[in-house]
Amino acid sequence: MKLQRTRSQARILNLLTTLNRAVSAQDIYVELRNLDQSMGLATVYRALEALKLEGVVQVRTLTNGESLYSGVQRDQHHLTCLNCGESIPIDECPVHQLENELQDSHQFKIYYHTLEFFGLCDRCAVASDTETADSTTHQ
Ligand SMILES: [Zn+2]
Ligand SMILES: [Zn+2]
Repeated sequence: MKLQRTRSQARILNLLTTLNRAVSAQDIYVELRNLDQSMGLATVYRALEALKLEGVVQVRTLTNGESLYSGVQRDQHHLTCLNCGESIPIDECPVHQLENELQDSHQFKIYYHTLEFFGLCDRCAVASDTETADSTTHQ
């Protein structure tokens, strides 16, 4: 499937590659404006949608419902704290091999995968422990 990229798609893809981190559509909109490459937010969303189906952009949805976009070459997973929302990047990817196997066994072209871990970060776990201990003492 050979697609002709529009100028806005090319600019957004270029921006995502340069930034090398996951950003929201709003961030992209602002960054492009700073670069004097302004386009409407609706155009940004349309371009992101097209790039996503092309398999060059991936989407990650945060616990608050916000979508973050990044170039698909980044295979990055996170530990996300449910309390403070902190996202800690992890280096390992335990499913690379599985991805290859699934591609073969299901004849499915996999563009990317997501894998996220949710729980409490160090600080929040300590805080909730203290709270529990406190309420026990005061009973
Ligand atoms: Zn936390
Ligand atoms: Zn991975």
